Amino acid sequence: MPDDAPQRADHAPAHMPPDEFRRLAERLASWIADYWTRVERLPVRSPASPGDVLRALPEHPPETGEDLGAALPADLDRLIVPGLTHWQHPMFFAYFPANISGPSVLGELLAAGLGVQGMLWSTSPACTELEMRVLDWLGEALGLPESFLFRGGGGGVIDGTASEAVVGAILAARHAALRTLGDGASPDARRDLASRLALYTSAQAHSSFVKGAVVTGFALDAGDRSRVRLIPTDPAGAMDVVALGRAMREDEHVGLVPFFVGATLGTTGATAVDSLPAIGRVLDECAGSRPSALRPWLHVDAAHAGAMLVCPEFRALAEGLAHADSFSFNPHKWLLTNFDCNCLWTHRPRDLTGALSITPEYLRNAASDRGAVVDYRDWHVPLGRRFRALKLWLVMRHYGLDGLRAYIREHVRLAAVVESWVAAEPRLELAAPRTMNLVVFRPAPRPGETTTSVNTRAAALLERLNASGRMFLTHTTLPATDPNDPTPRYVLRLCVGSVQTRESHVRQACDLIREALDAEPASAG
Ligand code: PLP
Repeated sequence: MPDDAPQRADHAPAHMPPDEFRRLAERLASWIADYWTRVERLPVRSPASPGDVLRALPEHPPETGEDLGAALPADLDRLIVPGLTHWQHPMFFAYFPANISGPSVLGELLAAGLGVQGMLWSTSPACTELEMRVLDWLGEALGLPESFLFRGGGGGVIDGTASEAVVGAILAARHAALRTLGDGASPDARRDLASRLALYTSAQAHSSFVKGAVVTGFALDAGDRSRVRLIPTDPAGAMDVVALGRAMREDEHVGLVPFFVGATLGTTGATAVDSLPAIGRVLDECAGSRPSALRPWLHVDAAHAGAMLVCPEFRALAEGLAHADSFSFNPHKWLLTNFDCNCLWTHRPRDLTGALSITPEYLRNAASDRGAVVDYRDWHVPLGRRFRALKLWLVMRHYGLDGLRAYIREHVRLAAVVESWVAAEPRLELAAPRTMNLVVFRPAPRPGETTTSVNTRAAALLERLNASGRMFLTHTTLPATDPNDPTPRYVLRLCVGSVQTRESHVRQACDLIREALDAEPASAG
């Protein structure tokens, strides 16, 4: 052997033998099942202070491998559980939920165990084709227009998050705008056109739209409004469509080109629903009124609320979806599928792949070259991708559409229970109409009380509730309703969306809120 030949490492890595993996996996599966059973007895919000978890962990990595069989699950109970906020707790009413279910966790485990990297059809045909089929299933289950499904000439893709889907939609919209208005133009003229494209969303839309504008270069930072317009909303949080039309006309007047509108079905603050038929009319007018005839791309963000569309009786919320070019929602919020899983559909997949397809030589293969297959790496920013379709597949097969519908309906029913209780409690007021499973409320203003004072009492009420460790709520601010006091209203959000939440839990939540109101200092406000 030549002297410079690579030498064998002193210690070959100690791979975990399959039988040991089996034993440990069974033990951890059992620990997870126990966790789901006992989670209700734990404080919802982690009592940890900043640095507690860090201090409990060794500062340096282990030099030699450890026996995980000896460490687990004891280390989970000792080091990790005390630092958890329990998203699967039945009294978790904060943010939007992060649903999980047995079938979904099994799908996640399979994806990890198979270790497939599904960037191209050829890197695992099952990874691509299961995703195509499951997204057609789910699109059909939501009642999406047929043109959004593969079988109707469109198609869907699983991204990690709704934020990634927004980035994809903005890039597809830019591609469409350049194709429509800049076809055959010089590179300079195309660059000039791209520099005049402007995008629109509402002031209550999720911050992922502004972040998407930053990521794609339409804004220099979150505060840059030169080509990003945040359209005002009505007090419930829905986009003021007249203001949208006006903003577009004004922008066109100064040489900007409206190319993208982000609508929301179920805003984060109060699950407000933008009117898609009205937005569609504005976009038609916009396209009809100008020589270029570019119809801005309409992306609908239904991150949380999209799950509701499995129930036909809630589909009126999505009326006008035919006006949209793309639609996305998170099964990982409210459809029993663990994070991460966002579904994005478009009836214009060529604009999405046109924007995102770049083919280095090493990725070329016969099936892709023939154009015979879907290569999902062209449908989003990352190249590599996990086999996430497995979990959606198992969830849909386990529950069936009937099971999914029953799940959503029950949460909406329970939210209505809370809403009725708030409406009947004179010390509270509903701060926005309830459209789905979110109840938004605040202390009822006392005669002559300023919004600032009500806001202070609302924040104190929230803190008292969360400090109890028995339930967890979050807050937001909504636009003022009092014309004489423009101060935004601080409101509490109670979202019924955890897998284990039953009627007894929401009734207990109402009792806890009543007790927290009873404990309000007499002088407060
Ligand atoms: N859109 C809405 C309406 C949301 O409420 C959220 C998060 O709560 C998002 C987008 C962002 O979701 P993700 O974490 O999947 O990017």
